Amino acid sequence: MHVKITEIRTFLMHAGNPPPDAIATATTTARGHTWSYRNWLFLKVYTDEGITGIGECSGWPRVIETAIKDISPLLAGEDPFDIERIWQKILVATMGHGMTGIVGSGAMTGIDMALWDIKGKALKTPVYNLLGGKMRDRIRIYGHAGTPERALSLKARGITAVKTGGVVDTVGKVEAIRNAVGDEMDIMVDAHGPPWFTTKDAILIGKALEPYDLLFYEDPVAPENVEALARVQDSVDIPIAAGERLSHIWGARQLIERELVDVLQPDTGRAGGITQMKKLAALCEGHYILMAPHSGSLGPVAEFAALHVMAAIPNALILERVEDDVPIRYKVIEPVLKQEKGYLKVPDAPGLGVDINEELVKANPSKGNVSVPGDPADGAYEPGTFDEHVYFQQRYRRGKTMRLRSHG
Ligand SMILES: [Mg+2]
Repeated sequence: MHVKITEIRTFLMHAGNPPPDAIATATTTARGHTWSYRNWLFLKVYTDEGITGIGECSGWPRVIETAIKDISPLLAGEDPFDIERIWQKILVATMGHGMTGIVGSGAMTGIDMALWDIKGKALKTPVYNLLGGKMRDRIRIYGHAGTPERALSLKARGITAVKTGGVVDTVGKVEAIRNAVGDEMDIMVDAHGPPWFTTKDAILIGKALEPYDLLFYEDPVAPENVEALARVQDSVDIPIAAGERLSHIWGARQLIERELVDVLQPDTGRAGGITQMKKLAALCEGHYILMAPHSGSLGPVAEFAALHVMAAIPNALILERVEDDVPIRYKVIEPVLKQEKGYLKVPDAPGLGVDINEELVKANPSKGNVSVPGDPADGAYEPGTFDEHVYFQQRYRRGKTMRLRSHG
């Protein structure tokens, strides 16, 4: 078979703004401003045989769309089966812009995903079969819960694990959720800034979280601060998770080689594609590190890629799924995946097994794609001004919370 790539098209959309209680770590003010904005970027790779492949790119979708337009001419006439060679060709062509930057990596990810989709469709087999075959038929998921009420509503739907977080009264939130849901449900904490915990606060909070038997403690410190992460890892007896903002095996190698994490969380839309996810999983396996792909702001196409990878690797722990962020998540793709008893079934159709509704994408043009800060008038960051909240005010607030707890 001599298939040739003819064209790449991008599909950029605004997905809406999620309600604050659906996002465990949203920094939300009394007036309902939230830091999360959803833009999704999908792409399709076309071939002269009529087979198309679909992919998704995260990182900074509006900027990545431009990157893909720059990269596209490199692919014209290439055989889409040569996935590794095409990946390396794009890396060499773009490395002047940074080897592990998320914009370049987001672009490579969407293209790589689409090539695996094409190969699966051409060979009439699901992508997991191309990755070594299936180890499991379904993948466990976890939801987000900022409150005990939301955790209970997820539990009532059959979901068996929830993540909460943020840096405000983190221990209190975990305690309230544990009391509400009982011992069966797994709980995770994402400290997700800004503001980030200082290293010592991350350790103090981590120690206070130890009795709650968390599945993991995520991004206890700013993810670029590798030495701080090492101190937390040495000091806190909870599995540590990180890695959602890293791309490629080179971006994550310190975390893996130094065993600074127990759980790696590559983002399926920007880690470098299915090709890199599989390599990351292998590096992790050598260190007994588990994989829990990040999904936070991702659209629904990347979830299919995550399921195929997780089906085929031995060290798949759990997949993030923000069930109720934006309703369009369940309209813009076909088929829609519904969780059952806290699991997603691995898709069995050839390729990734998903397509997008192009009309719906067109009807929702992209909007600004940076966080909207809270309104200082809401008093969310007292004392002081909004501009200084990032570190100082969090430190005051954390100290107060811990003192109140220790004095009953
Ligand atoms: Mg996170």
